[in-house]
Amino acid sequence: FAALEAEDPEIAAVVLGELGRLRRGLQLIASENLTSPAVLAALGSTLTNKYAEGYPGRRYYGGCAEVDKAEEIGIARAKDLFGADHANLQPHSGASANLAAYAALTQPGDTVLAMDLPHGGHLTHGSKVNFSGAWFRTVGYTVRPDTELIDYDEVRDLALAHKPKMIICGATAYPRLIDFGRFRSIADEVGAYLMVDAAHFIGLVAGGVIPSPVPHADVVCATTHKVLRGPRGGMILCTQELSARMDKAVFPFTQGGPLMHAVAAKAVALREAAQPAYAEYARQVVANARALADGLAEAGMRPVSGGTDTHLALLDLRETGVTGREAEERCDAAMITLNKNAIPYDPQKPMVASGIRVGTPCVTTQGMREAQMREIAALIARAVAADPGSSGGARELAAVADEVATLVAAFPAYPKPAV
Ligand code: PLP
Repeated sequence: FAALEAEDPEIAAVVLGELGRLRRGLQLIASENLTSPAVLAALGSTLTNKYAEGYPGRRYYGGCAEVDKAEEIGIARAKDLFGADHANLQPHSGASANLAAYAALTQPGDTVLAMDLPHGGHLTHGSKVNFSGAWFRTVGYTVRPDTELIDYDEVRDLALAHKPKMIICGATAYPRLIDFGRFRSIADEVGAYLMVDAAHFIGLVAGGVIPSPVPHADVVCATTHKVLRGPRGGMILCTQELSARMDKAVFPFTQGGPLMHAVAAKAVALREAAQPAYAEYARQVVANARALADGLAEAGMRPVSGGTDTHLALLDLRETGVTGREAEERCDAAMITLNKNAIPYDPQKPMVASGIRVGTPCVTTQGMREAQMREIAALIARAVAADPGSSGGARELAAVADEVATLVAAFPAYPKPAV
């Protein structure tokens, strides 16, 4: 970092500014985490220099002996950790992993059955503004209006009616467990591939706190930077039978040279995720999400589906009379970072939304537990209720920000130097 400060103080200031932001506030974005210094060290290494198109032992460039080792170690760790036949650590992101899965298993124009976006699906599950919606015929399944849980009967009916080539399960804002076995049997009934997009919850699978999709899916796509706490990037796990197709779909079909510094950092994170301390962290992530959801429920914010089994909760704010957008802005002003989120059957437009999404990976990494979640719920409730346009509102937001500062000072993000 000294070199960056000397060479480019402008960017060095941004890096320090971001560290300061992490340290001053509460990070409750469900898809974010705080990587270890070891992961950061691998990311900031000379491995970024190396061209390594291809796979270990089969590269299109010379000089790959060292990076080959990093990728081989990472692949072995991923296979061990998840009990998968095959792993590919090269996807640059979760969306890239999903693109590769489509490329390996489908042709443009094929029908794909996936969760509707407003019900928790991801852009790559059929949004019109994404390749998935532009190049494929996507059919969306929903959650039931009464339980707000996936409607498996509807999934089966849609599968029988539309005969999709691929069925996708896994979501961006679904707080409950997914019945992978049920999806497998529906896929088998109609001869579809089953792709599980485990971007959000693969880190909970790694910690053994939720069931694994690996025994059920043809392919599991994931990100490495969410609960899993690795570098920003993607990962694919699949059966032996599909391994060659999946590797070709990543390179050369959808990507060029892999980011070897990121591949090495993924290997570091996968080793960390195999430690007993990680399993304890994963257990606490879920316990914290439950405590946070309970605390917010007591404050009049209704947890969608009644609660959570995972690292995130989705809250319906309609009882509070505050929109998701207003809540996000008010919490931002109080140094609490979270995001507005559509709730199922949301009457508001997506940019306004009736809900917020909160997640516990960051605060759990910082060492917080249930007692702090109750405090955080109370702080969120105060921030959401504080109208910045009213006389006392701005003062209240400043008071909440002060209390946030006191709370996070006891659980600092990156307590040791980490720039
Ligand atoms: N799939 C799901 C379910 C996600 O929630 C996300 C990101 O939030 C992705 C894929 C895409 O990951 P990335 O942002 O790394 O492309």
